[in-house]
Amino acid sequence: MKDHRIEEKIRHLRSEIERHDTLYYKNSDPEVSDAEYDVLKRELEDLESAHPEFATGDSPTRRVGDDLVEGFESYTHRLPMLSLDNTYSKDEFFAFVERVEKGLETSGIEFVVEPKIDGVAVSVTYENGVLERAVTRGNGTEGDDITANALFIDELPRRMKGSAIPAILEVRGEIYMRNDEFDRINEDRIAAGLETFKNPRNLASGTVKMLDRDEVAKRKLDVVLYGMGYCEPDAVSTQSEFHEKLLEWGFPVGESFWKAEGAEEAWSAIEELDFIRDSFPYPTDGAVVKTNLLSQQDLLGSTSKAPRWAIAFKYAAEQSETLLEGITLQVGRTGVLTPVAELKPTQLAGTTVSRATLHNQEEMERKDVRIGDSVIVEKAGEIIPAVIRVALEKRPDNSVPFAFPDSCPECGTKTIKLEGEVALRCINQDCPAQVRGRLEHFASRQCMDIEGLGEAVIDQLVDRSLVSNIADIYGLQYDRLLELEKFAEKSAQNLMDAIERSKSNELWRLLHGLGIPQVGASAAKDLAKAFGSIDALRSADSERLVEVDGIGEKTAGGIVDFFANEVNRQIIDALFGSGMSPLEPTPINKEDAIFEGMTFVITGTLPSMKRDEAKELIERKGGKVAGSVSKKTNFLVTGESAGSKLTKAEGLGIEILSEEELVARAGLV
Ligand code: NAD
Repeated sequence: MKDHRIEEKIRHLRSEIERHDTLYYKNSDPEVSDAEYDVLKRELEDLESAHPEFATGDSPTRRVGDDLVEGFESYTHRLPMLSLDNTYSKDEFFAFVERVEKGLETSGIEFVVEPKIDGVAVSVTYENGVLERAVTRGNGTEGDDITANALFIDELPRRMKGSAIPAILEVRGEIYMRNDEFDRINEDRIAAGLETFKNPRNLASGTVKMLDRDEVAKRKLDVVLYGMGYCEPDAVSTQSEFHEKLLEWGFPVGESFWKAEGAEEAWSAIEELDFIRDSFPYPTDGAVVKTNLLSQQDLLGSTSKAPRWAIAFKYAAEQSETLLEGITLQVGRTGVLTPVAELKPTQLAGTTVSRATLHNQEEMERKDVRIGDSVIVEKAGEIIPAVIRVALEKRPDNSVPFAFPDSCPECGTKTIKLEGEVALRCINQDCPAQVRGRLEHFASRQCMDIEGLGEAVIDQLVDRSLVSNIADIYGLQYDRLLELEKFAEKSAQNLMDAIERSKSNELWRLLHGLGIPQVGASAAKDLAKAFGSIDALRSADSERLVEVDGIGEKTAGGIVDFFANEVNRQIIDALFGSGMSPLEPTPINKEDAIFEGMTFVITGTLPSMKRDEAKELIERKGGKVAGSVSKKTNFLVTGESAGSKLTKAEGLGIEILSEEELVARAGLV
């Protein structure tokens, strides 16, 4: 390549990387996957090292990604907060160990291998054991003071515990969102017809940088601490001792870490971590390997961007290339049209994938996805398979862009795009796809939990015009059920019984099942607790509704509109007319609240209870259930195949309970 072409290429790569940095660090809304970004960065690094004449000090390869945003006070870190060099390759990992050995002029170095939590970096300062402030990484030198938002994190100690508390401690960690909280928020957004968030990392980082405190309060964030920033006076001499200290001081720490001597042992730990990390409550995207001795860290020092004594080994998200045979449009219960890729089946992350999401029209057009294309499909952890790009070089000559229909593929009604939304919608309430979707939602496990009333049965009931809304379920007759495919006397009777039983479900289940915009399971629970009955709820105005914890103005407006709608009123009246009699939440009385103020963690498979049941029992008795073990945990309830949580709880001297012991303590036997 000619010099000016190389220079031009470098300039182009720098500006592309800077654009992605802004989207990722400042807007929390990246356009490309981390793997795609890392390829760009690597290309730039290679060009800059082959052509040092074009390398400049302000290149993004020499800087820490800058997450400073408007609206927060900035704070200068006592010690810089750096990034980490990363690699996806085993050979490069071994080369890192060699560099460290050479730098220290010794071999058999002790490393610590830790999970790399995929959240947003934070530095928390404690002065004489009292939390002073929480700050983002910012540009590495100074960060944004996000203390007000961090204080919503229950797990973040306000005051350190234990002995030898330093006068000043800047402890580094990661704010993250638990996978189940991420699912809950997205479930609520689907119910509200809003676009879902892409992954827990973006949502956590976006939330940390929000100025709207009410919104922050609604999204539960967690934190894990793992690194020493500044400590006065010195407290430890190794990273592994620091982990122990963190536990003693009452900080939430990672699920596990490994001590390893030399490259081979460290590599085994990296592999072992990959094997178990799916069971962690937070997203992880790699392993961080650090020299254990702090004196060795000092000797090796850092570049302007990253320490020389650590490396992140990133686990590649599984990808596969396959043929896009077709594009279908799925109509959800709220009328949103989602384009779905129909793929030539391909193996991905241990499963056969034949469908993947294309998110929405805008996203599809941006990637220019066309039928007949070879596409790259990716599945990262718990995230559903998605088409991430097209192999354009393989595109057939005769391919044409996909034409989105202007009417609903299910009922033919003209589709519209509501203001502020990216999704196309069918607004016909009687659209059969929406009718089926509403019925499936109502009967699902998270709502009325009517066993035997799944997708296949609902399809038949709608096709035969036996039901057209949720109230019709309660008018179903035994004889008509017998006419359905695969139904015999026993199955028909079982379904009749399940429908009958659901009439006395807890109130929140009914509220969730109604499909009120923005009201997911947790909001339904809050509303049930606050109002106690549908009648009280339907006569509440917006002002009264926003007084309920977790209900914002938008949700309140949606609830009022929902109950003002004549069709909804008729359906609710019909439900109650057929004997619906939901169980009102019983306020916990003081004598019954034997677990009040106690925090439980549940791990492993319990012999007879489902986790949800154990959780419900604990909450009914006034206790709280947390996702990870910390010093604040009072009890760990364990079942079969309990893993690292058990080891950690034992290490902390936390009382361990079996299911039987839990039930006994709850006073049920
Ligand atoms: P990084 O996330 O790869 O690694 C450094 C960070 O890891 C630290 O700041 C810390 O917050 C975190 N971390 C988690 N667990 C840790 C542990 N146990 N010990 C130490 N640190 C731990 O680096 P970065 O500079 O924050 O971001 C660069 C990476 O971000 C890129 O490699 C890329 O994958 C991603 N990125 C993606 C885009 C995109 O558009 N998709 C854009 C910019 C950056």
